[in-house]
Formats: sequence, C-alpha cells, structure tokens
Amino acid sequence: MAAQAKEARVALVTGAARGLGLEIARELGRSGARLVMVDVLEEVHEAAAALAGEGLEAWAATCDVASEEAVDQLVGRVMERHGRIDILVNNAGISPKRDGRKVPAVETSLAQWQRVLDVNLTGAFLLCRACGPLMAERGWGRIVNMASQAARTRSVIAGAAYAASKSGLVGFSRVLAGELGGKGVTVNCIAPGRIVSPMVNEAGEAANAAYLANIPVGRLGVPEDVAAAVAFLASEQAGFVTGAMLDVNGGHFMG
Ligand code: NAD
Repeated sequence: MAAQAKEARVALVTGAARGLGLEIARELGRSGARLVMVDVLEEVHEAAAALAGEGLEAWAATCDVASEEAVDQLVGRVMERHGRIDILVNNAGISPKRDGRKVPAVETSLAQWQRVLDVNLTGAFLLCRACGPLMAERGWGRIVNMASQAARTRSVIAGAAYAASKSGLVGFSRVLAGELGGKGVTVNCIAPGRIVSPMVNEAGEAANAAYLANIPVGRLGVPEDVAAAVAFLASEQAGFVTGAMLDVNGGHFMG
C-alpha cells in the first residue's frame, strides 16, 4: 500500500485557492493524485487543509505565477518534496473589471494590459518551461492550460487584454504540444464558457442572466463541469489527445 502511494502522480494546480482551481484539485485528488495547490492568496493553505480533511493528499504553496523567480523556486520546492511533477494545470488567471464591467480596449492602461498578460500567459509559460523538461525526462506528462471562450470568439464580458492573453495561451499550447508530444507529454487547452465562480460573480447578475438565455443546456456551468474535463485530459486514457481545445460551455459557442 505504501509503495503504491509513493507511485501516485503529482499534480500541480495553479489558482487553486478557490473557484475552478479548487474543484480541479479536488477532482484530481479523488483520482489518486498527490496535490500541489498553488495560489497568490494565503487562503490556498486553508483550501489544501479542507481537501486533506476529505482524505486527499494536498500540500499548498503561495506563489505569484507571473514571477520567474517565484515559479522556479516553487518548482524546486515541489521537486524536493515529491521528486516529480506529472500533471500541471495552469488555471491561475485574472480578468480585471471596472465597476463590474470590462474596461474598453482603448482605455486600458499599459500596466493593466501587461499584468493580465503576465499572469494569464507568461505565468503558464514559466510553469510549462519549468515542468515540461521534468515530465519529458520521465516520459510521461499532462499539461492542461485554462483558456476561455474569450479565445474562441468575441468576448463581451472579459476585456481585450484577457482575450489576447487567452488566445496567446492557445497558440503557445499548440507549439508546446508539438515539441513535447514525442516525449509522452500532452498539452491541451480548455475553453470554459460561463462557469459560476468568484471571478464570474464580479460581472453581476444581469450579465450572467443575459448569458444564460443563450446557453442551450439551460444553466450556467459549475466548477465540477470544468474539473471533469481536466481530469479526462490529465488521465492515462487521454494520451492520444494533444494540442486540442475542449469547449466546456453548455453549447453557448459551437466552433
Ligand atoms: P477565480 O478568480 O475565482 O480564481 C482564480 C484564482 O487564481 C484565484 O484563487 C486567484 O487568487 C488566483 N490567481 C490570480 N492571480 C494569480 C497569480 N498571479 N499567481 C497565482 N495565482 C493567482 O477565477 P475562476 O473563475 O476560478 O477562473 C479560473 C480560471 O478559469 C482562470 O484562468 C479564468 O480565466 C478561467 N476561466 C474562467 C471562466 C469562468 O466562467 N469562471 C471562464 C473562462 C475561463
């Protein structure tokens, strides 16, 4: 039993203090992974304690994924602790709003633009750069990057910087999938539509109600919908799926 536990895969999930990331961690933990939960918020420690209380193996670390130094330190700590990283879910993301609405592209400051790209795109790049070679060395890995419907079609709720960052993430993921495919490492994206979370609640009820009216399955998404999609892409069975984009949007956008 102990030897089996030692072999369990290690899954690093960013943005895991709450929302989609927390549910993704829970789902991967239930499928047997040892969890490394990462967030810029201290609350990530409570989130990990909650999952540990559910019988899952969870360890938390605070880290700003936009910082090269912090990411490299984080990966060093994980390697010291576990000696491997098998699954990486780049889920941390920001979608800044002004009074609950997106800031128009032409009113976006350079600092706002830069921060969104730094967290949503560069953060994923830094983690992939640090973890990809470790996975390739072991001949197995799963990288799941959290894109968005905003990378698939015109975004009305999220701003231009957000759409640019998520579209960039898709292009980046395809190139990485091509580079790591021969080494047993898959790289895929998920494009959630409207999923109930703290980020989405910021947009207010009216925006969410308008969205709901155009979702064929007749409800907003829940974090479990996205977590199930991540669990599939992170599974053994998904080894022939790479460079793909999985829409999880209730049919709101069919590309
Ligand atoms: P959320 O705001 O509830 O959670 C995001 C988490 O990321 C938070 O815990 C936050 O602290 C963390 N984070 C932010 N900046 C960070 C940084 N620099 N370093 C480390 N952690 C950081 O949002 P959510 O709705 O759960 O979204 C999760 C992901 O899914 C995001 O990438 C988001 O863009 C994407 N997404 C969400 C929806 C949706 O409808 N909820 C739709 C499309 C895409």
